Amino acid sequence: MADPTSTDQASNHVPAAPDQARAGALLEALPVAAALFLRSGMLYAVNTLGREWFVVDARAPLTSQAWSVVLLPLGSAGSSLLAAVAAGNAPVSPRVPLGRTGRIVEVRAAPFDRELLLLTATDVTGHDEQRTMSARADRELSALLSLTPSAVRITDVAGRIVQANAIAQLEHPSRAPATVRELWELDAPHDIANNRPLSFLDSPAMRALAGHVVQRQLLEVRRLGTPCVIEAFAAPIRNDQHVVTGVVLLDCDLTDRERLARQLDERERREAELQEQVTHEREHLDRLVEERSRALIATQEDRLRERRLTAVGQLAAGVMHDVNNALNPIMAAAYLLQHHAESPDAVRDYADRIQKAAEIAAATASRVGRFIRQEPVHAGGDEALDLSVLADEVLDLTEPMRLRRSSESGEIQIVRQFASRASTRGLPGEIREALLNLVQNAVDAMPDGGTLTVRAFDDGADACLAMRDTGVGMSADVRERAFEPFFTTKGARGSGLGLAEVYGIARRHRGTATISSVPGRGTEVTLRLPRAVGSEPELAVPSVAREAVIPKYILVVEDHDDGREFLRRILQADGHRVDAVGTCADAREKLASSAATPYDLMLTDVGLPDGSGWDLVQHVRRHAPTVRVGVLTGWEPIADTGESRGAEFVLRKPLRAAELQAHIAGGSAPASTTE
Ligand code: ADP
Ligand code: MG
Repeated sequence: MADPTSTDQASNHVPAAPDQARAGALLEALPVAAALFLRSGMLYAVNTLGREWFVVDARAPLTSQAWSVVLLPLGSAGSSLLAAVAAGNAPVSPRVPLGRTGRIVEVRAAPFDRELLLLTATDVTGHDEQRTMSARADRELSALLSLTPSAVRITDVAGRIVQANAIAQLEHPSRAPATVRELWELDAPHDIANNRPLSFLDSPAMRALAGHVVQRQLLEVRRLGTPCVIEAFAAPIRNDQHVVTGVVLLDCDLTDRERLARQLDERERREAELQEQVTHEREHLDRLVEERSRALIATQEDRLRERRLTAVGQLAAGVMHDVNNALNPIMAAAYLLQHHAESPDAVRDYADRIQKAAEIAAATASRVGRFIRQEPVHAGGDEALDLSVLADEVLDLTEPMRLRRSSESGEIQIVRQFASRASTRGLPGEIREALLNLVQNAVDAMPDGGTLTVRAFDDGADACLAMRDTGVGMSADVRERAFEPFFTTKGARGSGLGLAEVYGIARRHRGTATISSVPGRGTEVTLRLPRAVGSEPELAVPSVAREAVIPKYILVVEDHDDGREFLRRILQADGHRVDAVGTCADAREKLASSAATPYDLMLTDVGLPDGSGWDLVQHVRRHAPTVRVGVLTGWEPIADTGESRGAEFVLRKPLRAAELQAHIAGGSAPASTTE
């Protein structure tokens, strides 16, 4: 191998100077940096670019400059390359930086003739970048073509297919068309818009080669032996000079899409049909439900009406039974009275019997009344009460009955749970009556003994009293009917009025009565009455002793002859002066004519033949305001209190003499104004 630095190389022969000048001119024609070296390693000729890029001393003779110095900007690349070529090898041309210029050069070397070696350096800066970019563009295009869901073909200007993506290749797998002509022959396209075969010259590829852009041309083509519908696109590819150099062809197979669209249409149609069917069914169901509901409501109404009628019938039958029972001895006694009128003992005896029978009937009427009359207890007629105190009293009162029952059958225990004050307002007499009925029922329900738990409490909203027994309990049917008057499961032993009374009394006190019961386990009846807020219960004061009777001048208005006569006699027996009339007209006349000595009091019935007692009350209020008025009524429900309609007091029939006397005396009514 030649050592360029060694000077004692025997083969070294320097060509003549004119040769050197010619070599220099030759190098000048090259578009790269070029230098010729003697095999001895000395520079022989160099072109202008070589002088610029390499280290060449312009003042020293070229043959005095060794390649080891001249080629320094190429690092060791230049020297090693030359050495290799000199040794007869064919080395790879390296790319190296040119000193600090930022250029990359490709260095090549070759033997020139026997004495000379040629070295060139070509500027390849940027070549790599361009190559990278074009490679990248190629890759991007491939990726794009592989992703496109359509068939894509690229042709050259002669119509040769130079690229086709995978989908395009699948279109004619047995024979890939090499040209657009072959493609046309294989496709045998039919122009759908014009309904005729498509000529080759009108094919999208040919039109694009002629410089047109083809958009969405619908064609029917033959693919794998079956007809398909495609949408074809084509566009020319042009170079910098706008000359067409090829075309891009693209087609989408609409066959699947069309099939899908048809399937979708079909499905939508079926769904719509189904929807319609569902709507129809629903309407039908709605109608059915409505009809059934109407029928159900109708039967419920029927049942309700039937139950109401049963209850009314039962009430009437009960009343009739009791009234007949009372009338029986009365009629018998009256008959006997007529025949024994001369015997004072017999008269007294029959009068006694009549009174007793009448009292029994009156008691029944009063109990039924307590159920029927649900007009509220009016303020002023009520008192502050504590339910636990009343319950205590009632338990004491019923103690003998409980003891008797306990000794006869099983022992009955009483548990009192009076946790807190249960304050309300009301008529103590009525509430005692209600509690008495509940205790009686509880004791009846425990024939083999048990426990009666009485709780009085305030639940925050109401004053409550709950009575629970461990007795036989009620079936749902009995529980539903238990409050109806005269409903009883006790046969002749029962009156069926106890719970009806409880119900009426609770309603009259603006409260409720509820039953919860489990057959075989026991029953709890709960009374809830509005709690009295803020006031201490002042417990029922016993009625005041009768005052001495002060005689009054009284006008009695009553159309019932016997009633009028009896009332007159009772009043006269108490020392009052009495006028008695049977109509409103007579009453007005009496009131007008007594202006000189006015009446102290008018007592009037409500139902009179020529008007209502309440009209008379108004008349008195206007024309004789000093006259006090008392109204007597059967069982007419009264919405308002007597006072608000102008009367001083209202009395219910049958009249109790003591009650009447107390009102006439002008004092407040005794404990119960109404019974
Ligand atoms: P009576 O006690 O005269 O039958 P009530 O109106 O007091 O009438 O009661 C009606 C019916 O309700 C009773 O016959 C009985 O069937 C049922 N009943 C009432 N209280 C109880 C109770 N504590 N336990 C079981 N059943 C009861
Ligand atoms: Mg009872």
